[in-house]
Amino acid sequence: MELTKLKGITEKRAKELRKLGCDDAASLLRIFPRAYLDMTARIPVREVFHNDAALIACTLTGVEPVRYTGGKRKFVRAWLEQDGFVFSAVWFNMPYLAGRLKEGEYLFYGRVQNRYGQVSLVNPSFEPIERNKRLKGLVPVYPLKGVLTQRIVRDAVGSALAAVPVVSVIPEAMQRKYGLSSLAEAYRHVHCPSTHAEASAAAERIALEEYFVLLSAFKIVKGDRTEARVNRYTVTERQVARFEKRFPFAFTAGQQAAVRAVYDNLTSPFRMNRLLQGDVGSGKTAVALTAIDMAVESGYQAAYLSPTEALAAQNDAILRRTFPDRRVGYLSGSATAAEKRELKAALARGEIDILGGTHAILQGDVKFARLALCVCDEQHRFGVAQRNLLSEKGDSPDVLVMSATPIPRTLSLVFYGDLDVTTIPDKPKARQEISTSIIPERKYNDMLAYIARETAAGKQAYFVCAKIDDDEGEVTSVTELYDELRMRLPNVRFALLHGRMRERDKTEVMAAFKRGEYDCLVSTTVIEVGIDVPAATIMVIVNAERYGLSQLHQLRGRVGRGSDKSYCFLLVGADSETARARLDVLRSTTDGFALAEKDLELRGSGDFLGTRQSGKFLTDIKNLHYSTDVIFRAKRLVDEAFAQGLVTDGIRAVALRRYESLKDVVLN
Ligand code: ADP
Ligand code: MG
Repeated sequence: MELTKLKGITEKRAKELRKLGCDDAASLLRIFPRAYLDMTARIPVREVFHNDAALIACTLTGVEPVRYTGGKRKFVRAWLEQDGFVFSAVWFNMPYLAGRLKEGEYLFYGRVQNRYGQVSLVNPSFEPIERNKRLKGLVPVYPLKGVLTQRIVRDAVGSALAAVPVVSVIPEAMQRKYGLSSLAEAYRHVHCPSTHAEASAAAERIALEEYFVLLSAFKIVKGDRTEARVNRYTVTERQVARFEKRFPFAFTAGQQAAVRAVYDNLTSPFRMNRLLQGDVGSGKTAVALTAIDMAVESGYQAAYLSPTEALAAQNDAILRRTFPDRRVGYLSGSATAAEKRELKAALARGEIDILGGTHAILQGDVKFARLALCVCDEQHRFGVAQRNLLSEKGDSPDVLVMSATPIPRTLSLVFYGDLDVTTIPDKPKARQEISTSIIPERKYNDMLAYIARETAAGKQAYFVCAKIDDDEGEVTSVTELYDELRMRLPNVRFALLHGRMRERDKTEVMAAFKRGEYDCLVSTTVIEVGIDVPAATIMVIVNAERYGLSQLHQLRGRVGRGSDKSYCFLLVGADSETARARLDVLRSTTDGFALAEKDLELRGSGDFLGTRQSGKFLTDIKNLHYSTDVIFRAKRLVDEAFAQGLVTDGIRAVALRRYESLKDVVLN
């Protein structure tokens, strides 16, 4: 149903709603509230903490004429009163509000500034209480953009609730058997609940439905995959064994098993769509290289996709070293247009055996002559969308995706449900344990002195912090830290690396660090994935409390790659008990899988993957609800529905449409 068919939605409004990602009436129902306001709680404005957002019921007593600030911004000020306490609201650059504000009772919602008892609301949204009489109990707060107001979205969602039929695709017999509540009711309750308990029960019911659809889709897609394979691999086991001898080490049992799984799959009648997961440093690259060898030995081309330019450059070096007798191409972001053109032409003519690079490989004008295998390094940066794009580059190419973030089974069901999973459970021996410690403020100088000594002796260190610019006060920005460190340790050679630098510069800095031209790399989390610098033995993480355990574990995994003892120092900004308890888990555990499970328990899936990776669909889910329990319940329902032959064409159609829609999930 079109948006404009809904009561009260004009073309102009529909346009605004489309900006939220709502293309039709049904999708309006899927803007899930990010919070609920309790209209019955009358908060005394005096008691709200500085900078907290609050809903304030009060009386508007007067509006001042529009004035200009020093910086020539127009501003409007209104005077408010609550139980005899006088405060104000100010709006910048919204002079038209002056005409809209009349004396009377209002609800204001916004950030409260409390400067030594002088209270004001800055750019709050507001509604006359008259109109709010019909708002009872809890009112949803939607994630908004642009000129949309809460009331507009609330009304639009209300119209959609009345007009759009909501039907569960879970077979009715099963809904009855498991006493599932009505999905339509759940949608009503999630958008206008009368209690928090009702809202969360509704969210859980919707989540169950979502996961049911998604997991069904994966099951269908996976089932359909048992198509005959197109590319015939002629490589023999003996050739594979000979290839493994090129490495200066013997494969671990886990690596051997993974190679076996890949070989069996590539020489089976079925196409490979496999996730290779293993903790940081478990040696996934060697397995991927062996798979690539299987393809090129069989006369095909292979692609090696990396999520960042720095990693792509590193992998390019590894490819050239490992395959000295093959033609290796690198689609580098820093290549000139002419160079790229030449490379693409050679690739299309089949004169390149292995192509490495970043997302650039996915572009439409990159054509292979006989692509049989795609390797995606550090998969969690790619989505289903990219995977599908890759698959279109060849004739049903086999796909091997690698994830260094060990993902708990529940999540891998959701994110990689369409893939077969191989796990490398072990790590090469002889690797030093990394000593992890939390550094208290008073030990900071000692730590710097230690780093100065170690770097003078030829060791290297990383400093990682979260933000580029210091806009949040408590977060030390990377540039600030860089400047501070250079001043404090003038004899140490520092390099700076962050996401806003040009790709070419980033790659260059990484390479120089690897060559030992710098002692310390001060960086944002761009170094998070896959970077391998054996001489780096110290990892300092600033504001460690702001990261998930898995991410910290990943960062920690950047050191301890050589034969020397390595250290991870965690600096905690806001010193809270919970932050400490969390970091203690990191200190005591080196098992990435255990940390991932713990993370999930502590933070939920959205944060677990970081917003950058979550994409649109997952953001929906995150706003909605996440629990391991719901995913497992959905999984059981799906298995039962399939086993009992209850999966109708209708369910298939809905599920596949959902899967297709994941193609639109564009990351970053
Ligand atoms: P990850 O699984 O994190 O991608 P890598 O493939 O980068 O791990 O491997 C980490 C390091 O371990 C590399 O320097 C690699 O050469 C080395 N390595 C891999 N496999 C083995 C092995 N079986 N024995 C010893 N070292 C190994
Ligand atoms: Mg890796």
